[in-house]
Amino acid sequence: CAAGRVEHARALGERVMQAFTQPFRLDGREFFLTLSIGVCRFPHDGADISALLVNAENAMFLAKRNGRNNYQVYLHDLNSASAERLEMETALRHAVTRNELVLHYQPSVDIAAGRITAVEALVRWAHPVRGMVAPDKFIPLADETGLIGEIGHWVLLEACAQTRRWHDAGLGGLKVSVNVSAVQFRQCDLTQIVAEALARTGLPPWCLDLEITETVLMQDADATIATLLALKAMGVCISVDDFGTGYSSLAYLKRFPIDTLKIDKSFMGDVVCDGHNAAIVRTVIALAKNLDLESIAEGVETEAQVDFLRAEGCDRLQGYYFSKPLPAQKLAEFVRAGA
Ligand code: C2E
Ligand code: MG
Ligand code: MG
Repeated sequence: CAAGRVEHARALGERVMQAFTQPFRLDGREFFLTLSIGVCRFPHDGADISALLVNAENAMFLAKRNGRNNYQVYLHDLNSASAERLEMETALRHAVTRNELVLHYQPSVDIAAGRITAVEALVRWAHPVRGMVAPDKFIPLADETGLIGEIGHWVLLEACAQTRRWHDAGLGGLKVSVNVSAVQFRQCDLTQIVAEALARTGLPPWCLDLEITETVLMQDADATIATLLALKAMGVCISVDDFGTGYSSLAYLKRFPIDTLKIDKSFMGDVVCDGHNAAIVRTVIALAKNLDLESIAEGVETEAQVDFLRAEGCDRLQGYYFSKPLPAQKLAEFVRAGA
């Protein structure tokens, strides 16, 4: 909007909205369209085309968030928190298509086998300006905006493809765990996406493990059981991530077809001085054993923790003590060196 005044921008927005209140006729049928318009002004809101487009897009996402079928004029004084959020949201929309997402892989050690048998795929966002953004900073936003569907799809395909490449390169049997958020679990047809990823990459289903949270188990139990049963029928494994931090109803553990309990890293803190956490961890390991489930401890950082977990009979360990999450290339070297 070259006129530069907010009133002009608003008037223009009104006129376009007005034009779309009439139906369009196509092939003798009537179509009603709704609009979400973002407006920004030159030079007030940006000195060049790309800055203007970013700000117009930000304003458009605000219009969408305000229930669609409205227009928003970009305002500099959007408070800085919501401006930052909008900027992140806009950038995140392009992250997949611009190949800005990367997976790092953290190994876990199987105590009985005495070696690395699995890795967890952990997504990072190589943001063009902010650098590597941790998943805690953008997965919640992806959940809120629905972008988790696209991101989760990419993560699953990439994790399966990479693991298949490792198999072909001599690391046969290596398993990969992929995190699935509660929103993603509800939003997507997970069985179809998983089937597609396995078919496209040729990864054996038993080498794929899906990490879900207790939240997933507590919502809509019947639908969850149906999805999990379908995944199990394909041969895929299911883990409960961050176990012990959600609403743990012990009854559900028997109802759901799960394979593994992943003990949350927040319980590792004082396990070695035999505090409350030691009691919790000991109990979860025993619970897993009694229900014939595998137990994994995450966030293992010290040798003393390793000794404790080993003595308690934990099946698998994951944490900085062994390795941080690594880029794919480094992970392969790490596994080979330890084999
Ligand atoms: P999570 O699945 O529980 O993953 C474990 C987190 O603990 C990872 O953080 C990992 O780097 C960190 N960690 C590993 N070992 C240690 C340790 O010894 N000490 C400490 N203090 N931390 C350790 P990261 O990579 O930042 O991931 C954070 C969370 O983001 C994950 O928690 C998971 O919930 C979520 N996330 C990551 N990737 C994805 C994804 O592809 N999809 C979805 N939906 N969520 C993801
Ligand atoms: Mg996880
Ligand atoms: Mg976890």
